Amino acid sequence: MKIAVLAVQGAFAEHINKLESMGVSCMELRNATDLEKDFDGLVLPGGESTVQGKLLRELHMLEPLRDRIRQGMPVLGTCAGLILLAQEIRNEDRIYLGTLSVCVQRNAYGRQLGSFHTEQEVKGIGKIPMTFIRAPYIESVLPAQGEKPGTEVLAQVDGRIVAVRHGRQIGIAFHPELDADNRIHGMFLESISTAWADA
Ligand code: GLN
Repeated sequence: MKIAVLAVQGAFAEHINKLESMGVSCMELRNATDLEKDFDGLVLPGGESTVQGKLLRELHMLEPLRDRIRQGMPVLGTCAGLILLAQEIRNEDRIYLGTLSVCVQRNAYGRQLGSFHTEQEVKGIGKIPMTFIRAPYIESVLPAQGEKPGTEVLAQVDGRIVAVRHGRQIGIAFHPELDADNRIHGMFLESISTAWADA
C-alpha cells in the first residue's frame, strides 16, 4: 500500500512521519507528474487552504485530484485539507475540490480560541486527543443526493462537528498527525483496505 501526501504547503511531513511509523510507505505529491505514479490513498494536510488551493490550480493538480476522489480514491483531509474537500465554504467565495458534502467555516474559533487541545469521542474508535490550530469546523452536513448516502458525523466538540466521513472521504477539523494517537490514520488505512476488497 502506498499513500500519497499532498506536499505543496503545510504539515505534510508530520503525516508522512506518522504513516511511516505505522509501517506504511508514502510518497510526496508535489506536481502533476507525481499523479502518474501509483498510490492507493491520498492525504491532504493542514496548512493554509488558500495557498494550497492556489498551488493546486497553478500546478494543474486540482481537476485530476477531484476526478480521482470522485472515482473513489480514499482521502483523508485534515484542517486546511478538509477545507479543500468541502463543497461549501461559508466565509469564502470559492471552493477547491468540492467533493465532500459539508459546509465549513474557516478560522471558525476566533482569535482567542484559535488553537486548543481537547479529547473527544470519535465514532467507532473511542476517545482521542484533538489538536486544533486556527481550525475550521463543519457548520452543516449537506443532504444526500439521489441514491447517494449523506455524510456521517464522526465527532463533535462543544456541539460543533469536527469529523465526518462520506464514502471513502474522511474530513477532520483537527490535526491527528500531531498527537501520538494513531487511530484516525488507522481508520483511514482501513478504508483503503475496504476499497481494495470491493474493487
Ligand atoms: N486556517 C487555515 C485555513 O483556513 C487552516 C489551519 C490549519 O490547517 N491548521 O486554511
